Amino acid sequence: MSEQVPLRLEIARERMLVDLEPLPAEAVGVGEALGRVLAEDAIARVTLPPWDNSAMDGYAVLAADVIGASRAAPVRLDVIGESAAGHAPTAIVRPGTAVRVLTGAMLPAGADAVVPVEDTDARPGVADLPAAVGIRAPTKPGAHIRRRGSDLHEGDRLAEAGLRLTPASVAVLAAGGLGSLRVHRRPRVAVLGTGDELVPPGEPLGPAQIPDSNSIAMAALARAAGAEVLELGVARDRRDEVVERLRAGIAGADIVVASGGVSVGAHDEVKEAFEVVGRMDLWRVAIQPGKPLAFGRATDRDGRRVLLFGLPGNPVSSFVTFELFVRPVIRRLAGHADPVGRRIIRARLAESVSKSAGRRAFLRVRVRPDPADLAISIAELAGGQGSHVLSALARSNGFAIIPEEVDALPAGSVVDVLRIDEESS
Ligand code: AMP
Ligand code: MG
Repeated sequence: MSEQVPLRLEIARERMLVDLEPLPAEAVGVGEALGRVLAEDAIARVTLPPWDNSAMDGYAVLAADVIGASRAAPVRLDVIGESAAGHAPTAIVRPGTAVRVLTGAMLPAGADAVVPVEDTDARPGVADLPAAVGIRAPTKPGAHIRRRGSDLHEGDRLAEAGLRLTPASVAVLAAGGLGSLRVHRRPRVAVLGTGDELVPPGEPLGPAQIPDSNSIAMAALARAAGAEVLELGVARDRRDEVVERLRAGIAGADIVVASGGVSVGAHDEVKEAFEVVGRMDLWRVAIQPGKPLAFGRATDRDGRRVLLFGLPGNPVSSFVTFELFVRPVIRRLAGHADPVGRRIIRARLAESVSKSAGRRAFLRVRVRPDPADLAISIAELAGGQGSHVLSALARSNGFAIIPEEVDALPAGSVVDVLRIDEESS
């Protein structure tokens, strides 16, 4: 089934995402969970700090004992013990006494304040416990004490299902006593290049040959979106070869992404191959670049559903369509709350632009702050806008979105820019 009228972007994307469920959950150690997406809310198992503790190296005292303390007239207190990290103190602070405390160590019973060692006559960094200490400054109850539970409490919701774990989030979950986490299985993306002209990057180019950069780009985009990659190599422009590689992808992946061979050329075999291995659900989206995008579905031997993408071969087209369609599908399977997960900002075009009417254009731009107007950014074209110009794509940090109805915009026009270098969640 192929449609001749190019679809609106949102309609095409909705048709891809409809009835897609996140992949099942699995347990991973919190140390391996970076980049994974939580399958359930993460609840703290411990209270932190678990007890009142000292924020400083110093002496735990009764604030009332040292009200009149000064450098000229220090208050002398007997040192009756020490509280060091990892050791529960036994000494109890009573009037006239102090306990030496180290940062993070439990506050001894009885004490209501900590005097930093700098405000005493004790020499910092000396291991031997002095018999007495002179306190050279007054303090207040609660000073330099971190209260039990001032960070988090057992039972607190530390992170919600759908969150992609960052270094800070794995840190707080570890602190909250979670040794392992329930996360969604990572989507597996099989990547296939198609074309008689392609050779692996770095190999000498024969006549009429170019390096296969799309396979590298697709694999990198898939990994950046949180997927594992299965490399299917390059199929020549022959239907049986494309079918064979697609079948290998269907057997081993959740999503198969082919590039090239989806247009109307005499050697474009991917759409027909989709019909052999499964079925094609849509073809052509009203965007620029990337119009000939094809999408289909197949099932493996066990009836597991696999999504098929046929991205246009031009390197910028395949990159843009991966960003707009494959990435949200990966994120939905991975369990993200928001499948798109990108920031869109407003920016002023530094120069005039033109495009085909009837298609939404995604121009490769570099956005930067406007020193004269901090409320809005400036978007400059990152280079040539041909769908083969990878060098401009590589210089860009966003896609300026020019609506369907428009065929040209003057310099200074305000447009939306999809930031491809920033996640919104
Ligand atoms: P096609 O859609 O197969 O007609 O390809 C369109 C353009 O993209 C042609 O110039 C191809 O040479 C180029 N192209 C296709 N696949 C790749 C690839 N894997 N890497 C780099 N360029 C490609
Ligand atoms: Mg081709």
